[in-house]
Amino acid sequence: MGMTMTQKILAAHAGLPEVKAGQLINASLDIVLGNDITTPVAINEFEKAGFDSVYDRTRINIVLDHFAPNKDIKAAEQSKQCREFAYKYDIENFYDVGEMGVEHALLPEKGIVTAGDCIIGADSHTCTYGAVGAFSTGVGSTDMAAGMATGKCWFKVPSAIKIVLKGKLKKWVSGKDVILDIIGKIGVDGALYQSMEFCGEGVSSLGMDDRLTICNMAIEAGAKNGIFPVDDITREYLDARTQREYKVYEADEDAEYTQTIEINLSELEPTVSYPHLPENTHPVSEASDIKIDQVVIGSCTNGRISDMETAYEILKGKKVKKGVRVIIIPATMAIYKECITRGYMEAFVDAGCVVSTPTCGPCLGGYMGILASGEKCISTTNRNFVGRMGHTSSEVYLASPAVAAASALTGYISNPKEV
Ligand code: SF4
Repeated sequence: MGMTMTQKILAAHAGLPEVKAGQLINASLDIVLGNDITTPVAINEFEKAGFDSVYDRTRINIVLDHFAPNKDIKAAEQSKQCREFAYKYDIENFYDVGEMGVEHALLPEKGIVTAGDCIIGADSHTCTYGAVGAFSTGVGSTDMAAGMATGKCWFKVPSAIKIVLKGKLKKWVSGKDVILDIIGKIGVDGALYQSMEFCGEGVSSLGMDDRLTICNMAIEAGAKNGIFPVDDITREYLDARTQREYKVYEADEDAEYTQTIEINLSELEPTVSYPHLPENTHPVSEASDIKIDQVVIGSCTNGRISDMETAYEILKGKKVKKGVRVIIIPATMAIYKECITRGYMEAFVDAGCVVSTPTCGPCLGGYMGILASGEKCISTTNRNFVGRMGHTSSEVYLASPAVAAASALTGYISNPKEV
């Protein structure tokens, strides 16, 4: 029996000719990642275990993004601990305020992650990097600690779901709608500990930002990872960013999948996930009576330049609805600067939005947009669990930047085609 793309990457990193679903392997790591919340816990474990060196200072990444610029003294202490560790071990990819970004937007942008990599991150949305053809998954801080010291991690080889993409997305429909549609179909545990392996002629119609958004939310279906094949679009993206050699893996013809799901991109409509699970999906047309208090456009899911461009196209020359707070957060400093250069910032501010320096901020209910009781927010983030963005009686509706921007203008969840 052949192997899936994920299984081939894992086999190569375990030094084995082949692996099977369910097999336990010890694989070598190309990249280890942590943020300002998870790294301090990993540092404590690293020190408790008596480690006094890292396996490769160029392969460890520490990004201060969740509560940075620091929201309070505790956050400041966590960042300080990360900073001291990074300086002590001369960590090459340590990103502090001024050069940081939301980690899963930052690492692909910097060319740190590349095709064929085996990557762990102490953050569940580490699955984002499957977009560039890597195996990439979230782990706990203890695994991060062991990974930093040894460059190895244990994995149970996942089985896989084949997701065949056909057709082409319509205007105002994006990667966010693709992944919300899939999660709506299979549920938040529909891909539990499996790979979501995307393929089909529809892949070539999706840009890298859409693929990054899709893989980012694989974990919201319970997946171990999401992964796209490497094509000309991937190569162009990687060649512009990375100096590292990369290896392209392809699934075998006879690879085994637990199921095959076909998605016709041409048929998808803008989609909204109602509280309090990403699987509660509805077409935007059903959501038009939902009045909102806040809009958030940003995060590791949808804070990239194409997301900013979509928001700009809808908001430019217009005013947001009175009473609606609109928070736009470019995900990295490079995207932030590009928004200035392209004139998006002025358009956003003129429309009545606020624009923040890169941070996770409101996505996890950290700061910069916490909801009060009963308030409703439409957000381009990836989770809408109870209390995710503030009070436990507040509500988060997940959608694309196009739907979020359109809703900012009307004060109700709106179809971008109709504003
Ligand atoms: Fe996690 Fe949200 Fe930050 Fe993404 S933007 S890494 S989901 S807190």
